[in-house]
Amino acid sequence: MPQVTQRVELVRHTVDGEALTALAAKMCYAGGDLSALLNRIEQNDQRAFIRKILKMGHESVMEHISFTFLIEGISRALLAQLTRHRIASFSVQSQRYVGYEKGFGYVVPPAVEALGKQAVDEYARQMDQMLFWYRDWQEKLGTNEDARFVLPNACETRLLMTMNVRELKHFLALRMCRRAQWEIRQLADTVFALCYGVTPELFADAGPGCLRGKCPEGEKSCGQMNAVRMEREEFVAAHEQSNL
Ligand SMILES: Cc1cc2nc3c(=O)[nH]c(=O)nc-3n(C[C@H](O)[C@H](O)[C@H](O)COP(=O)(O)OP(=O)(O)OC[C@H]3O[C@@H](n4cnc5c(N)ncnc54)[C@H](O)[C@@H]3O)c2cc1C
Repeated sequence: MPQVTQRVELVRHTVDGEALTALAAKMCYAGGDLSALLNRIEQNDQRAFIRKILKMGHESVMEHISFTFLIEGISRALLAQLTRHRIASFSVQSQRYVGYEKGFGYVVPPAVEALGKQAVDEYARQMDQMLFWYRDWQEKLGTNEDARFVLPNACETRLLMTMNVRELKHFLALRMCRRAQWEIRQLADTVFALCYGVTPELFADAGPGCLRGKCPEGEKSCGQMNAVRMEREEFVAAHEQSNL
């Protein structure tokens, strides 16, 4: 059976998210002709205004912009964490309608890989054993629905996820933190890079809390605030370099 790796694709996003954010914010204070306001926004660079508005905590204006990702090669363990984010929308491959007669993809934790080939082979044999049990229950019960109970958390899932920018930034604050679990952190890092590539202004301050001030983890802090900040500076510099 195949060992899978995480793949994240940005399939859709709101076009011109920065202008739309500025429009949403200016709507709140505009008394005059709204079409003229729209034209002005289309013509002007809104970056400084967006920065000011977001600094003030006027975050609801980011809810008009959304991003949709196709995500595969992730475990059911990650799925359980991801779907705790209630403001997001998910469409997940069903284990009732999609059977695994031919086997299932599975995620191998880096800690298992670090133990070497013997450990990875042992892990693969355990996956094969679970497939054997699964097929056995499929045959006895005639459905996938209950047979799937013997499948592991490592089992691959695929999904489509949509989040608006406000929720995305909340998600990134929690899940890019070095204290977040490795698989969801890997996902969050990729999601951040994809979003930043589209609208750097909206995501300039996105990421773990320590990028914006004191570590919110208190005494559980990883203590690597400087490394996190340096990593971000390197990321921004590389992004700017690639845009030259
Ligand atoms: C490092 C880490 C460890 C964790 N460990 C555990 C654990 O051991 N056990 C566990 O169960 N969970 C755990 N979680 C999950 C965590 O408790 C949250 O469920 C998850 O991070 C989603 O966060 P959220 O509710 O803020 O986000 P979302 O659901 O995306 O909501 C976004 C924001 O909307 C508002 N909101 C949404 N729904 C409501 C509501 N019903 N009422 C009021 N306000 C609302 C809140 O302000 C919320 O912050 C962990 C998360 C992290 C990052």
